[in-house]
Amino acid sequence: MKAAVLHGKEDVRVEEVDVPALEPGDVLIETDTALTCGTDLKVYRRGYHARMIVPPALFGHEAAGTIVALGDGVDEWFEGDRVVAANSAPCGECEYCRERRPSLCEDLLFWNGAYAEYTRIPARVVRKNLLVVPKALSFEKAAMVEPLACVVRGIAAANLGPGRTVAVIGVGGIGLMFIALARAKGCHVVAAGRNPERLARAKAMGADAVVSGERGLVSQLLPLSPGEKGFHLVVEAAGQAETAEAAMRVVRKGGMVNFFAGCPAGTEVRVDVARVHYEELALGATFHHTPESIREALGLILSGAIDPERFISAREPLDRLPAVLAGLAQGGDGLKVAVKPGLAR
Ligand SMILES: [Zn+2]
Ligand SMILES: [Zn+2]
Repeated sequence: MKAAVLHGKEDVRVEEVDVPALEPGDVLIETDTALTCGTDLKVYRRGYHARMIVPPALFGHEAAGTIVALGDGVDEWFEGDRVVAANSAPCGECEYCRERRPSLCEDLLFWNGAYAEYTRIPARVVRKNLLVVPKALSFEKAAMVEPLACVVRGIAAANLGPGRTVAVIGVGGIGLMFIALARAKGCHVVAAGRNPERLARAKAMGADAVVSGERGLVSQLLPLSPGEKGFHLVVEAAGQAETAEAAMRVVRKGGMVNFFAGCPAGTEVRVDVARVHYEELALGATFHHTPESIREALGLILSGAIDPERFISAREPLDRLPAVLAGLAQGGDGLKVAVKPGLAR
């Protein structure tokens, strides 16, 4: 089969490889759509990901398609089933899983290989994080379940609804999903970013106001909050020390900051702990998704509350993946690209 193989830093090649062999409990899907993702870009730039992918390796993790083969012992799925798989599954047995915090699982099992004609979904993911895609839903839309599930978790604790205000700092694909979801919950949303085209997209996604982060983020954002007192929820989706500090300065008394973007290890910022104490600021983060948020994300897509088509900027055949990744890495305006192995060049 044809598949993308990550060989190292900015080196992805589409090659002829063996169709993955199935272990007991696995399923094989014929990939209809694999979506590009910010995580893939990070890995592409670096050439590896310590926890998720060490080259040479199959690449890509947001896939939807049709089951074409079943491993031994699979009796709840059938050939021909339309499915979408999350890119990981928790073990269910470690102390974090027992504490019902599966995103912190000590043995989170990841798979890669979505950019291929066929994708092997490992048994544990089949058991815990493989979902049916109803006929009425396109594979393209269904494939966005994984990143959306991370965003769903990102706002879950903030108790959002009408009357709440949200600031989203960073307008990459994830930032835009936060904007769309907060709007779907009826919130007033302000977005901050650098790239003017992306800020225009933020507006199109429903942001009530946007600010360009080039100068004075705090002094620009605060006046856009009710009474200039700050926002109920601030999502830091840019991943920099300055934006993290700004996030803490524009959160309202009693509000919450989600440091959603992963900063490099060792990144330190200044925190006004007096404010944290006297104003009961909730400073925290969410990482990854859970089986529960994966299901909630599919529900949001099915109900039409979130329309993944708005996040897909192009459709490309598999052969074009190296060029697509190179383009996205240059910081183009592309959002998510739907890579479709079945699409003729
Ligand atoms: Zn992803
Ligand atoms: Zn676990």
